[in-house]
Amino acid sequence: MHINDAVFLEDLCPKFRLRQWRKSIHRFTGKSCIYCGKPSESIDHVLPRSQGGLSTTENCVPACLSCNGDKSDENALYWYRKQKFYDPRRAMAIRAWLEGDLRLAIRLLQWANPNFKSSNKNNEQDSSEYEAA
Ligand SMILES: [Zn+2]
Repeated sequence: MHINDAVFLEDLCPKFRLRQWRKSIHRFTGKSCIYCGKPSESIDHVLPRSQGGLSTTENCVPACLSCNGDKSDENALYWYRKQKFYDPRRAMAIRAWLEGDLRLAIRLLQWANPNFKSSNKNNEQDSSEYEAA
């Protein structure tokens, strides 16, 4: 999926759908921060909104408040490389996520964290829901 085909949530989704969408983003990673693996409490715009980043699934990742706040307006991959908890598998997962390949991203996250709890069944449902939206 290319960014041009992405669903523009602001245009299409009333508040309820936005809430569902946020929930599904967290579900993809089993409610863990894509950067450090701690519980995800927020949604991080990989490309910050201040730099034209969109609220699309490709640009929004589950993040804990600490990572989200610390990263601030920096480029996510550049910021992530400097972190103590940097893991190249997670960096690849973030890249795959940005390219819209959530299935690959989830597989890489599972590889990075053997305790990863994401239900594949839910993920399949969620991604097909997105493609249909
Ligand atoms: Zn984190």
